[in-house]
Amino acid sequence: MDMEQLGLFAPPRRLFTCTPSKLGSYEDCPRRYRFSYVDRPAPPKGPPWAHNSLGASVHTALRSWYALDPERRTPSVLPKLLQATWVKEGYRDEEQEREVFRRALAWLESYVDSLDPHDEPVGVERTVAARTETLALSGRVDRIDQRGAELVIVDYKTGRSQTTPDDARGSRALALYAIAAERVFRRPCRRVELHHLPTGTVAAHDHTRESLDRHLRRAEETAADILAAEASVREGTDPDQAFPTAAGPWCSWCDYRKACPAGQEHPARDPWTAVERRPAGDGL
Ligand code: SF4
Repeated sequence: MDMEQLGLFAPPRRLFTCTPSKLGSYEDCPRRYRFSYVDRPAPPKGPPWAHNSLGASVHTALRSWYALDPERRTPSVLPKLLQATWVKEGYRDEEQEREVFRRALAWLESYVDSLDPHDEPVGVERTVAARTETLALSGRVDRIDQRGAELVIVDYKTGRSQTTPDDARGSRALALYAIAAERVFRRPCRRVELHHLPTGTVAAHDHTRESLDRHLRRAEETAADILAAEASVREGTDPDQAFPTAAGPWCSWCDYRKACPAGQEHPARDPWTAVERRPAGDGL
């Protein structure tokens, strides 16, 4: 029996390279995952969403704010920073865009008012990565704070619905960021926080080793499911069967709705619907 048969020189197992959003895409809807990551060419996406433009603009303005010297981190610089990073796509018209700009500026002014400009985060839009037996994970964290001896994962939210501690606890992405940050910085990282700028609220969860391990196990299970689906397509299974649809109200917001008969059973939304002023609690 040679060494290879004994397993001594077995080739290393190939790791599944992923981000939390890639895994989340499959968990939300395997068909959407296929459209985003498997089908080439990918089906054409719908037009850009105004809420994505708004989120990107606010995130980049906060990154620019932290890039300044602490003495210059004042609310008065925000209009310039936001103007420089403003993404214009998806709005109904200029009037709406201007109104949303003012709204975003007000969120930022009140948010930075709650920050100590001399606090230097460990990372801003920082990419962290970790390997497990089966995964090569990476992802970009909005902010990593140092509080005492521990790191804290901070994720900015700009959607209409206020976030809750359950959202923070259940977020696979935040848990995976915490695991990766611990490994990159070699410091404990158990707390994850969602900072909801429209309401100025923070939804937090303190993970334990066990709860982080649970998230990691589920991420590995998802990766195994994806690999199994891809293998079954190579072996002749109909791709529609291997990557089934998981349709629901979220289809209205899916970039691939036009390419997806199941998604078209849900109403189309205008690209600016989610930034329109509506009474709170309407489910959007
Ligand atoms: S429209 Fe709905 S069912 Fe179709 S890919 Fe998107 S999320 Fe999945």
